Amino acid sequence: MTPARLDRLYEADAYGAEADRYNYWRTTVVDGARWPVLQDGTVADVAIVGAGFTGLSAALHLAEAGVDVVVLDAEHPGWGASGRNGGFACLGGAKASDWQIARRYGADGLAEFRQVQRSAIDLVADLLDRHAIDADRHSDGEVILAHRPRDMAHLSIAAMGIAAAYGVTPRLIPKSEMSAEGLVADGVHGALHLPIGFALNPQKYVLGLADAARRAGARIFGQSPVTKVTSGDGHRLTTPCAEVRVKRLIIATNGYSSDNLPDWLAGRYLPVQSNVIVTRTLTEAEISAGWNSDLMAYDSRNLLHYFRLLPERRFLFGMRGGIRSDADAQARMRKIIRRDFESMFPTWSRIETPYFWSGLACLARDLTPYVGPLGDRENAYTSIAYHGNGVAMASYSGALLAGLITGRPPALPTVMKGPLRKYPVARWRRHLLRPAYAWYAIKDR
Ligand SMILES: Cc1cc2nc3c(=O)[nH]c(=O)nc-3n(C[C@H](O)[C@H](O)[C@H](O)COP(=O)(O)OP(=O)(O)OC[C@H]3O[C@@H](n4cnc5c(N)ncnc54)[C@H](O)[C@@H]3O)c2cc1C
Repeated sequence: MTPARLDRLYEADAYGAEADRYNYWRTTVVDGARWPVLQDGTVADVAIVGAGFTGLSAALHLAEAGVDVVVLDAEHPGWGASGRNGGFACLGGAKASDWQIARRYGADGLAEFRQVQRSAIDLVADLLDRHAIDADRHSDGEVILAHRPRDMAHLSIAAMGIAAAYGVTPRLIPKSEMSAEGLVADGVHGALHLPIGFALNPQKYVLGLADAARRAGARIFGQSPVTKVTSGDGHRLTTPCAEVRVKRLIIATNGYSSDNLPDWLAGRYLPVQSNVIVTRTLTEAEISAGWNSDLMAYDSRNLLHYFRLLPERRFLFGMRGGIRSDADAQARMRKIIRRDFESMFPTWSRIETPYFWSGLACLARDLTPYVGPLGDRENAYTSIAYHGNGVAMASYSGALLAGLITGRPPALPTVMKGPLRKYPVARWRRHLLRPAYAWYAIKDR
């Protein structure tokens, strides 16, 4: 069988092994690639394409509800962004501001979406507990760092909104008190501690989810790229070795989606790169000379830096950006992220960072996540575009997808109902990133 070509937006390297070869998380798990290949044709109630947080959470919730579900991944569970991220289980999911969301969906829509963000974090905590997934959880909430003095005023306004929305007490930390709390970084002018969320090892979490879904009865296959979906009387999914026939379909491919799987997705999502480095193990003396807080943190830039001291005493530092994914562009990105790391943490400028990798997160034109029907195909759904905040939101969206199929809660939040609109210059939408990043760089000055 000649496989159809997947129509993807980035250079081939983004979908190959190279971008992920030096991913630290992979060294912390036994074997992410131990899943069988789909060799023989099969039937099921539901097929899920993509085994990241979205697909696996949907599979787990469906299997627990007694639904016969098959999950197919082109590589293996956790191969995509779910096995490469910074591990911040935090509020987020949209890039639209609260103000934009309130204008579009009203105060109730915003309030509902905020509660969804909180519930998404609670869901991850519950999944870890319920399925005994040891994912090296740490960090009591998160810290947002003001990268300019004037950002402290913005953070203090944000603190009031967060206090009102979530009933917690965020704490503003003036610059003069930061080092006493271990928040030692150059070029920051104070911080806001938000006591919601936690950090985890994403590989341990995603493989734990896969194991839990399998125990609940889901059949999960790796090395089984779906190259074609034919819908009519149910859905027929083609992989290089076999076909799957199902009544219902979920596409859970997020940043690794293709414009022809199915055609309806073409132009409706925009993958964006995020990049991470991890240091060698630091000595306690090195740690006390630098950032020594257990809290996960990010700065107030649009093209933000995110970082945390891992429980195993390495430091993780990530940043968004990068428009191409070929080898030269990756080498340039590695230099840029290293430069930014050294400029924020000069005491560690001689510390080696043997791990560097990148992956694709995903945006939508309206800057809000989408969960719902896959165009007008019957009994076909997708969940996509968490805007770089999918640890919690993708997990929750998987549960929403399962709810769409079983009719059980949680109900679909208004903000996430779409429509998932096309970008204006759909075929060339990646080129929108260059001026957008240039504009963000100016705004971040
Ligand atoms: C470097 C980086 C850092 C990030 N940091 C954070 C963070 O700290 N906190 C946070 O909340 N979010 C973070 N994110 C975002 C978060 O990781 C994603 O939003 C989330 O993992 C999306 O999960 P998913 O299951 O929808 O997609 P993915 O995990 O990307 O999974 C998609 C899967 O689909 C499969 N697939 C694609 N096409 C096919 C096909 N045709 N057939 C079969 N399978 C297919 C792929 O192989 C892949 O495994 C980060 C993202 C990146 C890249």
